[in-house]
Amino acid sequence: MLMAMNDCQQLINAATADRQLAYQCPGCSQPVRLKRGSVVVPHFAHVHVTDCHIFSEGETAEHLCGKQLLATWFAASGYTVRLEAELADLHQRPDILVQRATAPPLALEFQCSPLSVDRLAARTHGYWRHGYQVLWLLGQPYQRQLHLNSKALKFLQYQQQWGPYLLFLHVTTANVQLLHHILTLDAEPLSYQSYWLNTTQQSVTNLRRFTATVDTLPLSTNHLQRYYQQLMFARLRHQHVFEQLQAYCYHRGGTIAQLPSWTIPTIPQLPILAVPYLVWYGHVFGALRQRTGALTSGQLRALIWHQLRPLLARRVCLHARGQLLQQQITVIMTMLVDQRVIIKQGSVWQINAQQLKWRDR
Ligand SMILES: [Zn+2]
Repeated sequence: MLMAMNDCQQLINAATADRQLAYQCPGCSQPVRLKRGSVVVPHFAHVHVTDCHIFSEGETAEHLCGKQLLATWFAASGYTVRLEAELADLHQRPDILVQRATAPPLALEFQCSPLSVDRLAARTHGYWRHGYQVLWLLGQPYQRQLHLNSKALKFLQYQQQWGPYLLFLHVTTANVQLLHHILTLDAEPLSYQSYWLNTTQQSVTNLRRFTATVDTLPLSTNHLQRYYQQLMFARLRHQHVFEQLQAYCYHRGGTIAQLPSWTIPTIPQLPILAVPYLVWYGHVFGALRQRTGALTSGQLRALIWHQLRPLLARRVCLHARGQLLQQQITVIMTMLVDQRVIIKQGSVWQINAQQLKWRDR
């Protein structure tokens, strides 16, 4: 912990604490010792082994250092910050609480250790319910190449100007790395763009004002061919998800390789599915094949949503999740129109059986 209580019940930062004085843990009120060395940032630790539920001694040097770094950075950028502040109304203690004049208070969480998606959801939604905003920054254990099943992705957040994004904090260099427009084209590692910012040279405002424009044009034929190869490769490797899709196709008289070309995603998409988009599109193909006659827009959206829902990953930090899902359904509707899978007739949609055939082997 970075803050401890002195005998006057004031919270004192370890960086400015007096070695001669006595301090207590603000969580359990047990005595703590000031630790100030050359390796780890100044901090407090319980004198005796305790079962303190607020501050365990498992806190890493990275976490201690990152908290201090973030507090210093936000304070230097003109914000009022509180380190390890207890929020009694929601029984949570964010690493840093940032008070803002014209916006709700912001809780900063620097996560360096494993955290289950249930706990992440409980903490994030606890903040939201009580009118706090929350920003998750990820430490070194999460800073690996991004794949659809990366542990970092449960922290995926979204803002209009950044698209789907993650924030990493590199404590050794005092750099913040914003990974923005994180998108998936199924079998590949995720694509994203990086914006680096040094907290000793640039203010929080630099980060807040950063906007990026990214064009998501359809990919070239070359790229598509590569995609097919990867698809085959993935199939040969007997990935569970592909086996399931293969079984789904068999039951309907075809194979993955015979799915019509419109089911192959060619535009990078939001990484909000637990499976490749091909699975969703393949299921939409299967569901549409079973329908005859006309569909209203509402029925069509319901059909697509019904296929999507069981395939969603848990992205518990996406505040506008419902809106993003609706956008995603609109994207696939537009694609179905472009590919003439559905054709508008008056106020209803006709299904085009020509586009719902298995391809020849
Ligand atoms: Zn304690």
